[in-house]
Amino acid sequence: MKAAVLTEYRNFEYLDVPKPEIKDSEVLVKITSASICGTDQHIFKGEFHPRTKLPLIPGHEFVGTLEEIGKDVRGHNIGERVAVDPIIWCGKCPACKIGHYPACTSLKLLGIDMDGGFAEYVAADASMLYKIDKKISDRDSALVEPYSIGFHASKRAGVQPGDSLAIYGAGKIGQSILQASRTITQEMLFIVDIIPKRLEIAKTAYPEITTINAREENPVEVIMDKTGGKGVDIAFEVAGDAKIFEGRTNPVREAIRSIRGAGKVCVLSLENTEVSLVMKELIWKEGLLITSRVSHGEYKDALEHLVIGDLKPEALISAILPMKRTQEAFEMIENEPENYLKVLLTNS
Ligand SMILES: [Zn+2]
Ligand SMILES: [Zn+2]
Repeated sequence: MKAAVLTEYRNFEYLDVPKPEIKDSEVLVKITSASICGTDQHIFKGEFHPRTKLPLIPGHEFVGTLEEIGKDVRGHNIGERVAVDPIIWCGKCPACKIGHYPACTSLKLLGIDMDGGFAEYVAADASMLYKIDKKISDRDSALVEPYSIGFHASKRAGVQPGDSLAIYGAGKIGQSILQASRTITQEMLFIVDIIPKRLEIAKTAYPEITTINAREENPVEVIMDKTGGKGVDIAFEVAGDAKIFEGRTNPVREAIRSIRGAGKVCVLSLENTEVSLVMKELIWKEGLLITSRVSHGEYKDALEHLVIGDLKPEALISAILPMKRTQEAFEMIENEPENYLKVLLTNS
C-alpha cells in the first residue's frame, strides 16, 4: 500500500509499504480521509521525539471503510463506514481502574506511538470503531476526532444550557469547543485570538458571538464590560504559548480574571513552559480550575451532532489535498498558519 511516511523529521515520503496484517480482534480500515492535527505538526518538527519512532506513519484523525474483519469481531460488516478512535489506554493504572481513561499514565495513540492513518490502510482494534451514519459526508466525518475534543472539554467544564462562555484561542481546538458548546448553550460567548482570519471564521459561523482581537483590545475588559461586570460562567484556555501584550497577563490568568464568582476555567493547552498565576484571583472567586486532555467516548456526541446538522464543519476545513501531497500540506500550514485550520488528506 501507499503511505505518507515520516522518514526524517520535517520530511514525508509517499512510499510503498507493507499492508498491515490484522489480529483476530482487529479490522482493516481502508482510509478515505485523514485530517492534520496540531499534534501532527509537532511530530513533523520532531517535538514529540523520542516518543515518536521514525520511520512513522502519523495520523490519528481518520475515517474509512472496513476492508477485512478479524474472526473474533462481531457486529461489523465489510464496506461499513467507520471513524476510528485512536486512543489506547492500559486498563491497569489507577486512573484506568476508576474508568478515567484520558488520564491513563501510559496512554498511547495510533499515529503517534504506532503507525496511523496517513496511509491507504490501517489495522485497528474493533473496540475503537464508531459507525458513521449515511447522512454524514466523507468530508465531514473526517472531523469527528477534533469535534470529540470539543465535546469532551465541554463535558469536563460542565457546560449547561444558559452558560455564558469565553474561549481564549480560536485555532482548531478553540473552534471545536466553540461549535460543540454552541450545541449546548446559546448564551453570550466571547472568543479571543490575535489572528483576524480565525475570528472572522468564528463570526461567520456564529454571527451572534463576540470576537475579541487581543492585539487591539483587552479581552478581560471587554468581557467584564459586556457582562455588566459579572464575568462569564466558564472560560476555556486553548491559546497556549500566546504573545502577552503590555499590561496584560498570560491566557490562563486572563481566563481566571474573566469568570464570575464560583465560575470555572478549563485549560487545554499543552505547554512545557511555566505559567504564572496569582492564586488569590481564583480563590477570591472560589473558582474551579479544570483540565481537559483527549476525549472519552465523545466520538458518539460528534457523530450524533453531525447527523442533526447543528455543527458547522465547513467553517473548520481550510483545504483538502491528496495523501501523496502530505509534505506540501504540512509546509502550507507551517508557512501560513493564519490561513489554515483543518487540512484534510484524502485517498480518492
Ligand atoms: Zn489530534
Ligand atoms: Zn491506564
